[in-house]
Amino acid sequence: MKTLSVLGSTGSIGTQTLEIVREFPERFKVVALTAGNNLDLLVDQILEHQPEVVALADGERVGELRQRLEALEPGLRPARPPELLGGGDGLCAAAAWPTADLVVTGIVGCAGLLPTLAAIRAGKDLALANKETLIAAGPVVLPELEASGSRLLPADSEHSALFQCLQGTPWADTARLSTGVPTPGLRRIQLTASGGAFRDWDAADLVKATVADATSHPNWSMGRKITVDSATLMNKGLEVIEAHYLFGLDYDHIEIVIHPQSIIHSMVELADSSVLAQLGWPDMKLPILYCLSWPQRIDTPWPRLDLTQVGQLTFRKPDRAKYPCMELAYAAGRAGGTMPAAMNAANEEAVALFLEERIHFLAIPRLIEQVCDRHRVDLHPTPSLDDVLATDAWARRAVREAAAAPVGSVPVGLLPR
Ligand code: NAD
Ligand code: MG
Repeated sequence: MKTLSVLGSTGSIGTQTLEIVREFPERFKVVALTAGNNLDLLVDQILEHQPEVVALADGERVGELRQRLEALEPGLRPARPPELLGGGDGLCAAAAWPTADLVVTGIVGCAGLLPTLAAIRAGKDLALANKETLIAAGPVVLPELEASGSRLLPADSEHSALFQCLQGTPWADTARLSTGVPTPGLRRIQLTASGGAFRDWDAADLVKATVADATSHPNWSMGRKITVDSATLMNKGLEVIEAHYLFGLDYDHIEIVIHPQSIIHSMVELADSSVLAQLGWPDMKLPILYCLSWPQRIDTPWPRLDLTQVGQLTFRKPDRAKYPCMELAYAAGRAGGTMPAAMNAANEEAVALFLEERIHFLAIPRLIEQVCDRHRVDLHPTPSLDDVLATDAWARRAVREAAAAPVGSVPVGLLPR
């Protein structure tokens, strides 16, 4: 029986993790849950999984959660009421919960950084979905992993694919992925990308892109932020940096290939030129399950891949002009230090403004580029946690200010919709 702390339990990753627990109750048990503000769903999850602790990001709503649990019919209340915590300290306490073996990081954005560090400092193994944490704070997170001995298991489907492929090499003891040291024998990584919501659009038509367009992904059902990141291809850019930190390869050896069917989840090229790929239907439950069961495989009744049903697997190079975020991410990764933190925060903020319909889709890369240009003079090459947090806060402010102010002759915030 493996015990889990599920951070961001009400989100896409969180709910899929809980589906796995429901499906394999003899193998997995939830001891801690954290959530943003979907109390209705959280109450259902508490009743089903009976965790020992529950933490709400918004500390002021803990009282409301307690009242809701107390208002239940006596027969419906949890047999043992969970400890209820709130705010940043509460999230960190749930992430470091003593009885948890593995922490699933399903919080979206850099908000996951401090809880992730708390889990690492408590020596927990992690199923890493919350990529923004590693991207913003790789230089801080990697030494902490090294010091604590925590293992970082990638839940992102591409990195799970790479990890799974490497299990088949003589260097299979690469579970300590986390050190940023080059993985022996690994020559090149190819990250596959579906191409997102606009993969079949002409670049010239993106000027008409709406929030509804950008949030309808052709292959994957995910949270809104990552779905927009897929439409800009920033998600793949973030994954390039994630792969750099996880597998230690330099950026010249991490490539992106558009693969519209999302059947090959990524590929490794080894020293002898052999290429290994991992395949499956596009379903996040598989990479999440592998984190939970690693190094074992669990027998599942899930739909089995039938390539004759898929018919064709196709590949093409990504269009740089259509997806400027991709280049911005490579540049930020190469600059290193706090630059990925600045870029990540600028992206989070720009995507939030886009989802609020305050800026146009095309303003997202422009705002990120501006912030990264401005950050160059303040870049910390070997940042502390405080440097990362300060950069994150500065970049968010910078985006909000730039979106409100005219840039050149075209006000970014008022680009034609
Ligand atoms: P989501 O928006 O569906 O869920 C996010 C969760 O985090 C929710 O439980 C929400 O309440 C919580 N949350 C939001 N803001 C918070 C805050 N400030 N503090 C604490 N908790 C907060 O997001 P998602 O799609 O599940 O993505 C979660 C993470 O997993 C992201 O980093 C994403 O990049 C990564 N990821 C997701 C998928 C996917 O299929 N959804 C695939 C690969 C990687
Ligand atoms: Mg991914």
